[in-house]
Amino acid sequence: MNVTHLECSLCGLRHEAGRLHNLCVECGKPLLVRYDLEKAAASLTRDGLRTREATLWRYREVLPVDEPENIVSLGEGMTPLISADKLADSLPVKTRLFIKDEGQNPTQSFKARGMTAAISMAKQLGVKKVAVPSAGNAAGAMAAYAARAGMEAYIFMPADTPRANIVECAQTGANVTLVDGLITDCGKIVAEQKEAEGWFDVSTLKEPYRVEGKKTMGYELAEQLGWELPDVILYPTGGGTGLIGMWKAFDEMEQMGWIGPKRPRMISVQSATCAPIVRAYEQGERFAAEFENASTVASGLRVPKAIGDFLILDAVRASGGTAIAVTDDELTKAVAEIGAATGIFAAPEGAACLPALKMLIADGAVQTGETVVMFNTGSGVKYLEAFP
Ligand SMILES: *Cc1c(COP(=O)(O)O)cnc(C)c1O
Ligand SMILES: [Zn+2]
Repeated sequence: MNVTHLECSLCGLRHEAGRLHNLCVECGKPLLVRYDLEKAAASLTRDGLRTREATLWRYREVLPVDEPENIVSLGEGMTPLISADKLADSLPVKTRLFIKDEGQNPTQSFKARGMTAAISMAKQLGVKKVAVPSAGNAAGAMAAYAARAGMEAYIFMPADTPRANIVECAQTGANVTLVDGLITDCGKIVAEQKEAEGWFDVSTLKEPYRVEGKKTMGYELAEQLGWELPDVILYPTGGGTGLIGMWKAFDEMEQMGWIGPKRPRMISVQSATCAPIVRAYEQGERFAAEFENASTVASGLRVPKAIGDFLILDAVRASGGTAIAVTDDELTKAVAEIGAATGIFAAPEGAACLPALKMLIADGAVQTGETVVMFNTGSGVKYLEAFP
């Protein structure tokens, strides 16, 4: 509708809208969608949002789909921003603490946001078969949205992916292959076979629209907080799609005159046993080397090499944030602590934000009265193996 073109996030090369794209044809880095924001802002206004549908498609002017009939939706987005007062009270520094509960999305994770956008665009562009490597929730979401769109879904997952993810894919009609390896190995298989099989690869950030779906978390945060961004955002980071997307959303909103230049400090949270972004942050690198022998029960964080590494690291640094690793023991225990204090049965990934917040507080990096948002990116229900 308002898309002008796609732009390489590294070299800036312009790519035409209205065609299938994966990575930049010149440098192989992710493409970002650019909009005519002046035109978007003419019909999309902060006040006008009040009466719109309670899904992420309420922001359709800044989303890529042209015709409404191509939107493949299961009611994703507009998840609640839940205040966590009791949890805040239990910490040595009293913040205004919220949990954005993404576990309430279709397929119980925020992967639904990315997939509604990617599958809708695939439909618009005539795709019939989609493939994805996934550490878990992306597979479940892709299977669901592909089923809804009437597309064939081909999914490659590590054999030790949580059982719920494997079962949900099979039960929504996807073709599932379990791989003895990591998500990076699954990605290689998709890359090798896609030409011959006629699959469109919807790997995150190798496909330009999942990040567009996930950026709506940034729009929602602003809307839910009365057009005032929080001081701190804690984001459990695998591929970094949501962090990159929110950072983009903040710029778009500023260009539309919805918010000022103030930005939250973006905190990238990873598991200590798969922390490529944290390591690169600490070493002052812009690109993150592959993390060897990656393993963590927080399967969504098991991404040893992220293609958007520099976009995550650039945003974290520009925001004055940081990157923090927490152990699997800490993040697993945090599920029960969050659960008892808030009633939210968090995914281990989302729970990782709590020990990270405690570290920030101990370091004096979060002050009394600051507004802090932790992203619970999925539901604990999908990780029953991880709990006693
Ligand atoms: C995929 C996933 C993540 C990581 O998301 P990115 O945006 O790719 O960094 C975090 N938590 C859960 C539950 C996930 O499924
Ligand atoms: Zn490029």
